[in-house]
Amino acid sequence: MNDDIQEGLILTEERWQAILRNDAAFDHRFYYAVRTTGIFCRPSCKSKPPKKENVRIFANAAQAMREEFRPCKRCKPNGERLPDEEWADQIARYIDKHYAETITLEMLADLCHGSPYHLQRTFKRVKGISPVEYLQKKRMAEAKKSLLETDKALSAIASSVGFSSASYFTTLFKRMTGRTPARYRQWNADRTNLEGREHEQTP
Ligand SMILES: [Zn+2]
Repeated sequence: MNDDIQEGLILTEERWQAILRNDAAFDHRFYYAVRTTGIFCRPSCKSKPPKKENVRIFANAAQAMREEFRPCKRCKPNGERLPDEEWADQIARYIDKHYAETITLEMLADLCHGSPYHLQRTFKRVKGISPVEYLQKKRMAEAKKSLLETDKALSAIASSVGFSSASYFTTLFKRMTGRTPARYRQWNADRTNLEGREHEQTP
């Protein structure tokens, strides 16, 4: 059938390298099957790299199954259940994008179809910190950027990174960086001035 001939079925060098690197960035973009084993995988699968000449590329899992390849038990390319790493990555990506909004553990758990308890444990095991800690780190990084690159008021910065209370923002900022936001901004301005002056003095 001509419909089956579409871009996405070719083993390009880019895809081959993704398979060799177990590159998760290519997951869901294509699947690869191995003729000799009859099994198909996600690009990120940690299984032994196949011989290049035995590889076939599919745009989706259904296509591979139509051709009678079986899903790999390790990377579960057809599974509703994602590998933990991928699951945690999805949550992290969501936080990266929505940090300025109200985010709770319960909301995240709802979004990714898991219990808050499971989310908390899995995320922490994969990322080393809890989802809420991850969110706070992201917010602090964005706040630091605003403190240095803009002259917005602290309350405006606090709300722009998702804190409803400026005083809570200040408390948390101090706990995480050792300085209040105002001192952080001042300290950086002083440092930049000093560097500028030293620079002028050099012949
Ligand atoms: Zn696999």
